[in-house]
Amino acid sequence: MKLDRTLRNPADLVAAGLLPEARQAEADAVAVRYAVAVTPAMAALIDRGDPADPIARQFVPDARELQTTPEERDDPIGDLSHSPVEGIVHRYPDRVLLKAVHVCPVYCRFCFRREMVGPEGLGTLSPDALDRAIGYIAAHPEIWEVILTGGDPLVLSARRLREMMERLATIDHVRIVRIHTRVPVVAPERIDAGLVAAIRSSGKASYLAVHANHARELTPEARAACAQLSDAGIVLLGQTVLLRGVNDDVETMAALMRAMVETRIKPYYLHHPDLAPGTAHFRVPIAEGQALVAALRGRISGLCQPTYILDIPGGHGKAPIAANPIEEVAPGCHAVTDFRGQRHLYPPAPESSGDSTS
Ligand code: SF4
Repeated sequence: MKLDRTLRNPADLVAAGLLPEARQAEADAVAVRYAVAVTPAMAALIDRGDPADPIARQFVPDARELQTTPEERDDPIGDLSHSPVEGIVHRYPDRVLLKAVHVCPVYCRFCFRREMVGPEGLGTLSPDALDRAIGYIAAHPEIWEVILTGGDPLVLSARRLREMMERLATIDHVRIVRIHTRVPVVAPERIDAGLVAAIRSSGKASYLAVHANHARELTPEARAACAQLSDAGIVLLGQTVLLRGVNDDVETMAALMRAMVETRIKPYYLHHPDLAPGTAHFRVPIAEGQALVAALRGRISGLCQPTYILDIPGGHGKAPIAANPIEEVAPGCHAVTDFRGQRHLYPPAPESSGDSTS
């Protein structure tokens, strides 16, 4: 049975059969600190008979969220230390994050911005703050790409999204607009002709990074929503977080990557989980992640391979962290490991003869 509204507190989750009554008190304690929301699409996907359901694990509050470890941080990827004006994160020279809104259709229990999102979070930019953020982009000609994130920018109405896109359209040096969102998966009914047209109204090359963590999330409705976006010329990229108990085995990850490619979503980043407070139960050792991505190579198409990435804690940017398959074994001579684990030598390049073709 599909619900007709988003569930926003543990009592709602108990009533919908998504949380045992015996766990409501602990979930209430979690909900005081971190926002809760489960959309009808996600509630319908959860197997109520499976206590380890990977969809439930992503959205239903868990008492372990109240345990923080010493290495966890409120701002794990250092957004605030790279924010020159409210709503902008300028970490890399040629691109900025524009965070116009800090609410989401669902609240993920592992969220890296969990201290900023939700009804009690950083809120939506005021008109003046949005003016200053857009003014910052206009005043920095090195900004080639604007990434709308948050929160989830697709919770905005088509009208407000269009207004923002039309302002970006007037900034010539911005050539790419990218949106990071879970909406096509967790609330696919929001994707309609009006929202698609609003996304396209910047007139720039439009990219949309779809966050999905399990193949079951790519329901027929989610696939149809993605098809609307692709058919309109919006390039879809996949973003996934490697999560203990959700997708930390090769079969599950391979199925997700294939489901993305079937949906015309090109897997882009597989994120190692960030050091967000109360998320230790989701984290896997990096060596385990490296073994998992190595096992994907050769097993599934090159189209299905994501880049395994770590956001270095403290705001130092992203680093690819897959195990290196190549090693220099003699000057200029390399040993390369294939997907079966066998090593092969690759010879040095010939000495330059100084020949000229002119
Ligand atoms: S949709 Fe993204 S920003 Fe929102 S709670 Fe989930 S991970 Fe965090």
